[in-house]
Amino acid sequence: STKPRIVVLGAGYAGMMTTKKLMKNLSPEEAEIILVNKHNYHYQTTWLHEVAAGTINQNQARIMISDIISPNRVRLIYDTVVEIVKDENRIVLENSELTYDYLVISLGYETNTFGIEGMQEHAFFIENFESCQLIREHMEYQFAKYKNDPDADESSLTILVGGGGFTGIEFVGELVEKVPKLCRKYDIDRGKAKIINVEASPTILPGFDKNLVAYARKSLQERGAEIREGARIKKCTEEGFFVGDDNELIKAGTIVWTGGVTGNSILGKSGFELTKGKVTVNSDLRAPGYENIFILGDCAWVMNKVENRPYPPTAQAAMQHASTCGNNIKALLNQEPLEDFVFSDKGTVASLGVTDGMGTIFSGTKLFGKTAAAMKKVVDDRYLFLLGGPKLFLKKGKVRPF
Ligand code: FAD
Ligand code: NAD
Repeated sequence: STKPRIVVLGAGYAGMMTTKKLMKNLSPEEAEIILVNKHNYHYQTTWLHEVAAGTINQNQARIMISDIISPNRVRLIYDTVVEIVKDENRIVLENSELTYDYLVISLGYETNTFGIEGMQEHAFFIENFESCQLIREHMEYQFAKYKNDPDADESSLTILVGGGGFTGIEFVGELVEKVPKLCRKYDIDRGKAKIINVEASPTILPGFDKNLVAYARKSLQERGAEIREGARIKKCTEEGFFVGDDNELIKAGTIVWTGGVTGNSILGKSGFELTKGKVTVNSDLRAPGYENIFILGDCAWVMNKVENRPYPPTAQAAMQHASTCGNNIKALLNQEPLEDFVFSDKGTVASLGVTDGMGTIFSGTKLFGKTAAAMKKVVDDRYLFLLGGPKLFLKKGKVRPF
């Protein structure tokens, strides 16, 4: 056909919302839209700590893409992107190839090990839906195995979480609820199963509000988690982490690394110029030097010009990128001027299990405890509503209206 073809890579927050925005902004006659994703489902990356801990029914955290985006309107291709040949406007997928006129790269993050020895080989990552299913199954297996092995070492019950950023802390928040249940299920003394978080900085959640950090630390400690701050992980082996200047070995049966993220490695493979694994995009969200390529979400650094540093990678930002990108593709098609991305910060709320949490909303209002936990669920459900309207919210939402 002679219609311009828009290809969106990755059906995460940025990819799904961009596709929806394009469907709204453009008539079927104006452009062909193609969405490429590894799986036929979209998953809630922001719920992955719950999938990993096994505190949520994992199917609640994923949605069939075709339930949200009509295959009659958007061509859905379930395949893995291997490379973007950007100077030929061509994409190589595992099973086919594709050309584009306009491209949106929204392939999300990958876990960053910073080259720490043994981390890639011996630690689990909260990286995608499948890697989290593996964590959940592995923990359960460790508990079952302990009961069936007379020589078992108690440390096989320990769950070690490396990195006390939001992902690590939210995961520990789930573990303090899950581990007592696993202990009951396998008839194991709760005192034997340790949960240990190791953070290199002097404090967990470095840079976040001090009172909220203190609240989170106390809440997790009171429910049985050990928080080791100022403890840098130097090496990982199948036994555990080696930590600090004296190389203390902390042994565990389940080792999870939540020490950092970087952009999808497809960016590097495709020859984009990278800054710490991501592309620093122009203020209209296009890749420097490419008038027809947008890079969104966790693949992009978007500069906060006021503070002269990039915004942190969040779902909140990814969804806002999608809106600007949808408008800018329409502007390009109509030969109109493009808009600059402007971030609207709605705050940061973290869960500490099902009924506890903490965070800030709007311009700094602090929330603790049940109120924060409820707010987190509202934030999660708001997204479902934006994505799939009341039907999706009723099907997969966390706040039960009835
Ligand atoms: P993603 O949502 O990760 O989507 C990427 C998509 O690309 C996936 O569907 C994936 O399957 C697909 N994909 C990847 N590689 C390929 C390939 N080669 N070929 C085809 N498809 C591919 N942010 C917040 O704002 N609030 C929160 O409360 C929050 N909580 C979080 C909790 C956890 C546990 C984690 C890990 C992150 C959290 N974040 C939160 C951060 C947020 O999840 C990310 O910033 C957000 O997911 C980025 O969106 P994205 O669209 O760039 O990527
Ligand atoms: P992060 O980079 O924010 O945190 C990683 C943590 O690991 C840091 O505290 C760092 O000091 C620590 N670390 C790094 N190397 C270490 C080492 N060798 N030894 C010990 N500790 C080490 O990564 P993240 O927590 O995965 O978060 C990624 C992004 O997702 C962030 O932008 C975050 O804001 C966002 N996120 C948001 C929420 C929320 O809003 N509720 C939840 C999860 C993630």
